[in-house]
Amino acid sequence: MLIVQKFGGTSVGDVARIQNVAARVNRVRAQGHQVVVVVSAMAGETDRLVGLAHQIMELPPPREMDLLLSTGERVTIALLAMALEARGIPAQAFTGRQVGIETDSEHTKARIERVTGERLKECLAAGSVAVVAGFQGISRASDVTTLGRGGSDLTAVAVAAALQADRCDIYTDVDGVYTADPRIVSHARKLDRISFEEMLELASLGAKVLQTRSVLFAMRHNVPLQVLSSFSDEPGTLVTEEDKEMEQLAVSGVTYDRNQAKITIHQVPDHPGVASQIFQKVSGANILIDMIIQNVSHQGTTDISFTVPRADLSQARKLMADISVDDKPLNVAVEEDIAKVSVVGVGMRSHSGVAAQMFDALAKDKINILMISTSEIKISCVINERYTELAVRALHDAFGLAGPDKGKKK
Ligand code: ADP
Ligand code: ASP
Ligand code: MG
Repeated sequence: MLIVQKFGGTSVGDVARIQNVAARVNRVRAQGHQVVVVVSAMAGETDRLVGLAHQIMELPPPREMDLLLSTGERVTIALLAMALEARGIPAQAFTGRQVGIETDSEHTKARIERVTGERLKECLAAGSVAVVAGFQGISRASDVTTLGRGGSDLTAVAVAAALQADRCDIYTDVDGVYTADPRIVSHARKLDRISFEEMLELASLGAKVLQTRSVLFAMRHNVPLQVLSSFSDEPGTLVTEEDKEMEQLAVSGVTYDRNQAKITIHQVPDHPGVASQIFQKVSGANILIDMIIQNVSHQGTTDISFTVPRADLSQARKLMADISVDDKPLNVAVEEDIAKVSVVGVGMRSHSGVAAQMFDALAKDKINILMISTSEIKISCVINERYTELAVRALHDAFGLAGPDKGKKK
């Protein structure tokens, strides 16, 4: 079999852990499989590099930012290839460019257009382990690009799809996908299986255990995907097609996102075309707007609020400053101390009253809801950031997600 294994930042956080990864790769190889390993930068390294850039300027040029951020993964591929060689396992390390991970030019959040993978095939054919830098690619202009935070997951899935691998195993610091972040809800339950759609919602709503685009890519290209621990041999979570059993529960998971910010534009003239002017500007800059609320009109003006990823806030603010309506600048206010909590489940399609139950659970803990959005299989509420953990635990309990064996430890 051909197996793609991906190890995240904590799993390659120091030399001892890189040795642990080499041992795990060796175990799979010793079973007779071909292995491609994708690795992240050492834990904290990408944040450190972002911090360095921001010491110089608030909005660094994205092209140079990518060049900087891509260095973290270069370090770990080289070290892992050495650790494998040191064990007598032939291995070769490759950057994104070297394995032909071709992307568009949207620096810092580039999309993969194609993976040629020629060098990978040669490496595997020669009986070596291929070690690939996650999170990076190359644009048509031959510039280094990165795939958005957490993007090594996407590299792994895209490489698995290109090589038609039999499995894509994502090794991380938890042993699977849980009903909620196990760091916040100690009695969260590990899911044996989760549908692609639910995983996609959980990821896009903040559960960083898998990067959103990697789930989408795996779904589209039918890549068999599982999440496992780098530090134990527990069975992990399989991400698969939906089935009847999954629909029995209304809610499968609770998640949160602290990386959002709320922008409110006060007293916008209430006439056609204003919202379009504002939102076209923001989305034109490839900033993902999530929730939008327009208040009732009062004396010909209205307030519009919307959320954007916090990482894009500076840029969004700058764009707002360039807009004028009826020759007047916008009156913009920003709130960063917000969080979005969400419940997700394919069962919502057949269960009613989930929203009411969610609002009730938040009300019981006196948590005020600032914004609401729903889709077929999720409900999200924006709340004050300070109540995030309380809200996640309350929702986890309200929907009865705790594991039957562990009980509630609250
Ligand atoms: P890696 O560096 O291996 O890519 P990440 O930090 O990106 O790891 O993702 C793993 C983390 O995701 C876990 O440590 C956990 O805190 C967090 N997480 C959030 N929600 C969930 C969830 N529902 N199930 C499992 N882990 C979750
Ligand atoms: N190192 C990158 C990040 O921290 C990519 C990844 O770890 O997946 O976002
Ligand atoms: Mg990750």
